[in-house]
Amino acid sequence: MRTSSLAAWLLLGTVACRPEAGPSRPPTPLEPVAPALAPDHPEDPSRGPAEARLPARVEASPLAAEIDRLAAELRPAVIEYRRDLHQHPELGNREHRTAKVIAEHLRRQGWEVREGVAHTGLVAVLQGGRPGPVVALRAEMDALPVKEDNDLPFASKATAIWRGESTPVMHACGHDLHMAIVMGVAELLPRLRDRLPGTVKLLLQPAEEGAPPGEEGGAALMIAEGALRDPVPEVIFGLHAVPEPVGDLLVRSGPTMASSDRLRIVVRGEQTHGAYPWRGVDPVTVAAQVVLGLQTIVSRQLDMTRTPSVISIGSIHGGLRSNIIPEEVEMIGTIRTFDPEIREELHRRIRATAEHIAQSAQAEATVTIEAGYPVVDNDPELLERMRPTLARVAGPEHLRERAMVLGAEDFSFYQQQIPGMFFFLGVLPSGTTVEDAASNHSPRWLADEGALQIGVRAMANLVVDYAFAAAP
Ligand SMILES: [Zn+2]
Ligand SMILES: [Zn+2]
Repeated sequence: MRTSSLAAWLLLGTVACRPEAGPSRPPTPLEPVAPALAPDHPEDPSRGPAEARLPARVEASPLAAEIDRLAAELRPAVIEYRRDLHQHPELGNREHRTAKVIAEHLRRQGWEVREGVAHTGLVAVLQGGRPGPVVALRAEMDALPVKEDNDLPFASKATAIWRGESTPVMHACGHDLHMAIVMGVAELLPRLRDRLPGTVKLLLQPAEEGAPPGEEGGAALMIAEGALRDPVPEVIFGLHAVPEPVGDLLVRSGPTMASSDRLRIVVRGEQTHGAYPWRGVDPVTVAAQVVLGLQTIVSRQLDMTRTPSVISIGSIHGGLRSNIIPEEVEMIGTIRTFDPEIREELHRRIRATAEHIAQSAQAEATVTIEAGYPVVDNDPELLERMRPTLARVAGPEHLRERAMVLGAEDFSFYQQQIPGMFFFLGVLPSGTTVEDAASNHSPRWLADEGALQIGVRAMANLVVDYAFAAAP
């Protein structure tokens, strides 16, 4: 009978998007995964710091009141879009129905749509009636292998194949809300088209939660397949639903969500009888020492005042039975931080710690680190320019500062290419407190649909305010 001699599972209880971040690209060094934009492109955004390129000031556009009126008018429609998407969730790289529904919607509204980007993604463009900048909005399309535990008329009953097995699927991260908001914006903006400066670009991205094993996907693949080219956006905006009070928008300047790398350590010893450990090399005790050793890196070796970091081992496995010391032990975990230099330092010290502890016991440790998502790093200049827009939409008292989030989000890949701002939309259902609310990825994740209208107003006003400020 096969039993695990050691098994530990650690659930990372942060709110954000990907508690278990798997890279959507093959393991690479910590370079940006996406290719640089063509250097000779006239709109190449790699030309100098964002500060120099952004408009000096962004104010309420002349269309602001009309946007708010249209957002109110579209409120019931956007709720319907959300319920339909919620009832028909699809896993990453399999968002076929979702893409079809949204592509049809966009075309009906007069958008030019490119399908099949990064498997099932969409890139849509709307040309305004006047010259101006290209501004991009991004929403994610994928759901999660979670069984919905909400008593809603439009609760998900969908299933899909995940790792070879049939599993229930649910929009447990709020991506249905993000898509519905972008569908609302896509319906609103064409009504203002003649007066709209510049071009609006929508990125509907698959597989934010990570592509299925062995596949590529998500933001990195969107960029690799040209989502940020023809035309190149000047800036990009994205939002995420969080269990905070409805009506609140939350922002943070600079590093906002952590980088996320996957760690695998295999400790090799020499198998022997459990009664005679000196006749072999015990990888179980070495693995235990490695787990504890790793926890001293952040607490004892790094300047903890620079930025928060976390190393967590989520699974340990080795051995077959009680009286055999096994040949090897495998452990996997995650590495989170907010600083690229500390990220490199963590990787270096993890390797050294595991390898040297193993060496001290005549065992051998092999450390593999797969680079996952970079830090979601909000361009401070862009955020300062757009703060008045968000304050106007939410009301100044409802625009709040967000604490750092140790979860990860692949919006960071777009921010490596162009200035981007990622903010948070409160969707807490009435009658629940922030403390009691189900977190993103929970089977009981619930959203108050009143937040949709605020999301539409926020996204539409960000685009239009920016477009007017940056227009010639
Ligand atoms: Zn998520
Ligand atoms: Zn998410």
